[in-house]
Amino acid sequence: MNILIVGGGGFIGSHLSEEILKRHKDWRVTAVDISSTKIEYLLTEKNFNFIRMDIIENVDLLEKYIKECDVIFPLAAIASPWIYVRDPLKVFELDFEANLKIVRSAVKYNKRVIFPSTSEVYGMCEDDEFEEDISNCITGPIGKQRWIYSCSKQLLDRIIFAHGIRDGLRYTLFRPFNWIGPRLDDIYNENIGSSRVVSQFLSNILYDKDINLINGGAQVRCFTYISDGIDALMKIVESDIADKQIINIGNPENRCSIEELARKIMDFAKRYDKLKAHAERIKIINLNSDDYYGKSYQDVSVRVPSIKKAETLLGWKPFVSMDELLSKTMDFYFKPHA
Ligand code: NAD
Repeated sequence: MNILIVGGGGFIGSHLSEEILKRHKDWRVTAVDISSTKIEYLLTEKNFNFIRMDIIENVDLLEKYIKECDVIFPLAAIASPWIYVRDPLKVFELDFEANLKIVRSAVKYNKRVIFPSTSEVYGMCEDDEFEEDISNCITGPIGKQRWIYSCSKQLLDRIIFAHGIRDGLRYTLFRPFNWIGPRLDDIYNENIGSSRVVSQFLSNILYDKDINLINGGAQVRCFTYISDGIDALMKIVESDIADKQIINIGNPENRCSIEELARKIMDFAKRYDKLKAHAERIKIINLNSDDYYGKSYQDVSVRVPSIKKAETLLGWKPFVSMDELLSKTMDFYFKPHA
């Protein structure tokens, strides 16, 4: 099987490529990305082909790779709330427009698409647990630009779904809930908002910057370890069991408020020589979201997935606990590697 991973140099793409190559000696992975920093260690693998390419500028070349593959994972996207509010059109151009072209090529060449939707599409849904085929997708007013990511993904979900009905497109929409692990982001990038919450907090500690809790950090998220997420993706790609399905992939057991997360990370930081002294110097402070993100931000208070569908359809469940996933991630960044 030939697998095309667009954004294959990213966090999920790197782990997915590695797992496919490990499990299937006769499968080929073509990873397209503008960066290879997270996958340097795979570049010499026999069945791994890395194409350094900007998908916005090389539409025809990308179409050629789509034509040659069997399955596409279109993983290239901007997934940083800071950019949703600072440069929403950039998010639209990559997350929606560039990915729409991939979906259309998949329809044209009759290829299977395994598309990363997001827990963000549920938006401000108030259900205790979000269910893929039942829960509403609720976003805020247009001036709250942070919803551009959610809307881009949601519209693509709807387009892919419609192609499934009209053209028989074979697809799976998977919805990751805060996947965390090694290679999540570049924590050595000091820029505020350049990364996701766990990597942002780690970066803050490293550079002696106080940890900001937006609106008190009461927001609840369910953190999922990357190996659990990849295990679900392998079950999806290895059979057609999840054809034309939308599936949440998250760990409801790892419910954790952002405040709790910050305190845990500060506590765990004491175990690492590289962080200990820094963690003792900085504080956790409260910040109003208007002061941090500006007025076009809006919060999602609680986000918990129902994983009944993943359990019954895929026979999947997550195993890695909150403490374990933080330890494994922090070990990757701060323990000297053998
Ligand atoms: P990531 O940022 O690590 O990976 C995205 C990759 O896309 C990066 O390597 C980046 O270099 C590449 N890219 C960006 N612009 C490009 C361009 N113009 N041309 C080619 N490549 C380009 O993100 P990730 O965590 O691996 O997420 C992958 C997908 O899953 C995204 O679509 C994201 O929205 C979705 N998702 C992830 C999570 C999560 O918890 N990680 C949650 C919900 C949804």
